[in-house]
This record gives sequence, C-alpha cells and structure tokens, in this order.
Amino acid sequence: MKERVILHCDANSFYASVECAINPELKGKAVAVSGNPQKRTGIILAKNDIAKKYGIKTGEAIWQAKEKCPELICVSPNHELYETYSKKLHEIYSTYTHLIEPFGIDECWLDVTETEQLFNGALNLAEDIRARVKSELNITVSIGVSFSKLFAKLGSDIKKPDAITVIPKQNFKALTYLLPISSIVGIGRKMEMHLSKMNITTIGDLANIPTEILKHKFGIVGEELSLKVKGIYNETVKSIYEDELPKSVGNGTTTIVDIFTPKEVNDTILYLSEEVGRRLREKKLFSYAISVTVKTCEFKYEHHSCKMQAPTNSTKDIAENAMKLLNSFWDYKEKIRAIRICCSSLSTMPIKQLSMFDKTTKNAELSKAIDIIRRKYGEDIIKSASLKKANFLR
Ligand SMILES: [Mg+2]
Repeated sequence: MKERVILHCDANSFYASVECAINPELKGKAVAVSGNPQKRTGIILAKNDIAKKYGIKTGEAIWQAKEKCPELICVSPNHELYETYSKKLHEIYSTYTHLIEPFGIDECWLDVTETEQLFNGALNLAEDIRARVKSELNITVSIGVSFSKLFAKLGSDIKKPDAITVIPKQNFKALTYLLPISSIVGIGRKMEMHLSKMNITTIGDLANIPTEILKHKFGIVGEELSLKVKGIYNETVKSIYEDELPKSVGNGTTTIVDIFTPKEVNDTILYLSEEVGRRLREKKLFSYAISVTVKTCEFKYEHHSCKMQAPTNSTKDIAENAMKLLNSFWDYKEKIRAIRICCSSLSTMPIKQLSMFDKTTKNAELSKAIDIIRRKYGEDIIKSASLKKANFLR
C-alpha cells in the first residue's frame, strides 16, 4: 500500500489569536481570553504568545496571571467567533483535500496522499496552507507532516507558532523517541502513571516494549498504541465530508444494437460522460481516476482504470480520459454490447487551485455553461453535435 501523507494543522493560541486578528488594538500586547474579566474571578482559557512569555498558564486565576503581567488584557470568550474561524480554517484545508478530520475546534488532520503531488509535494502543500492561513485569516498554524496521524500530531507540536515540521518514515524514531509519552494524544494521566510504573516514560520506551505486554495490560488500546508508536499501525483520517461524499460516480448503457466502430464507441463514451460530469458538478466534486468497463456481444468483460492527468468534472475531460483509456486496451475487433464508465478518487478540490491545467479549466467552464442552459431550457436544448445521429443509444 502507498505510504500515507498526513498533515496535522494546529492553530496557535487559537482563541487569543482570533481576538487579536479581529481587534488590531490588541496587536503586540499580552492578551488572554478568560472567564469574566470584570469580576477578576475567572480563569485563563487561552493566551497569546506575548502573555505566554510572562509565564501565564491556561487554567490559572486571572489575579494570578495579572500578578505575573499587570498589563495583561483579558477578554471574554466569544465562542461563535471561534466557530466561524474554525470553519474558515476548514474551508482553506478543503481546497487541498476532502479528507479532513477535525480534532477540537482548532486542530485538523488532513490526508493529502492523493493530492500532494499537485502542489509539488507535501512540504510545499503545508507551506501553502501555512502562508494562506496567515494572510487570509491573520492567525497562524503549526503543521506536522508525516506518514501517520500520531507522528503528524507530534510534528505540529515540535515547532510553533507558524512553523512546519516534517517527520519522515526514515527517521521518525530519531525525531520523536526521546519525547515524553505525555506528548501522545490519547495517553491520559492514569495511563501515564501505569506506564511510568513500568519504567516507560518516553515514546521510545513505549516502542521498545513488546506489543503483547501492552495488549495484556491495556487491551486493544495498548495494542494499537504500541503499533502506532512503532510506526506500523496508521489510523485513517475520518473525513468530515465522508457521509456526504460518494466514493464514485458512474454511468453505463447497453446499446440498442451492438456497436463496433471507434466513432460509435466515442459517441457512447461522450453520452455517458455527460451524465457523470453533470452529477459530479452538481455535488461540486472533482475526480482523479477513471475506469472503463466494456461488455462484448459474447458477454465477455474488460475492465481497466487509470489516474487522470488532472482532477476534473468536465464532460469533455471525462470523455477524453475514458477514450484514451479504452483505446489503450481495446482493439475494435469485437462487437460491444455495453459500456460503463466510472469516476472515482473524488475530491472537493476547486479547479481554481489548479491554474496549471488551463485546458481543464476551460472545459469546466464550458460544462458549467451547458448545465446552466439545460437547467433553464431543458435537457434536450443543447446536445453534442456528434450525438445527434447516435441512434444506437437509448
Ligand atoms: Mg491549537
């Protein structure tokens, strides 16, 4: 299986950063978000980096914090505002992949395995995200880039704020095995205590204990944890969009009479692509891969699939890719009874991100225009000229 490429994006000092982002007067000052600043009875919920330098800690009383930094500005929390910023972050992330798993309000895992090459690799992609968050939202993120969720999360903690840390498979041990086990998400205080009794204090210690022992002691949790820190077990990123997103969009037809010539096959593919493209565009999805299945008049099947040059949802691109694939395996020596095409590896990636694929953009615009005309005047108002005479299609 292909090595996964996972990012963990963590918005730095999220609440306090958002407050500073919307209120320029707070810039350059020590700021904390706290419960009831007027009464001075609340506790510190979040603080910016300047406040952090004074040693102010989350969870301490406002009066304690003010003792450390008398000029500390305390603001009341505005959860609606933080939710809005959280959504804005998701919107930015979703232009890089649809596989986004939020963790709390300010952290997300992104699986960019299928899309990183579109941005010249995961590091460039992460750099793009880092820069965009800063310029568009006026807050910062730290990003961990790795092969698993666990190591990506550790990566985002290593350097912050506004930084990227790569933890590659080749040297994840050197980069993380000396870190305390408390840095692993999911290890609570109780488990930490149990582990420390077993002389396990670092991630390396944990990795060096046989999995069986941890399984015996902590059950499935221990087993998974052991395999994760050894770099063997890699949890999948559970996408927030998963429920809404289909895995594939396909369309097939059995022709009225068997077809044979390249022109007939081409017309059939175009006819099928129209529906597939329309459904993809309707759901604002882009496809990275296509498959073609041919059923001969002898009821033999040929099925092939391939990656597309660029993600697309335009009818023309889908038809061209499907034809190219079909021509790579089909020699037109047998009669065809049915054809099916299917677009998969779907993503919500907007095409505007991919300006390098100009032709794709043009075809997408054309498809969109046709959709609008059809919605207004009916399906049959506009047709591909070549399909006019394709009376072998239903
Ligand atoms: Mg954070």
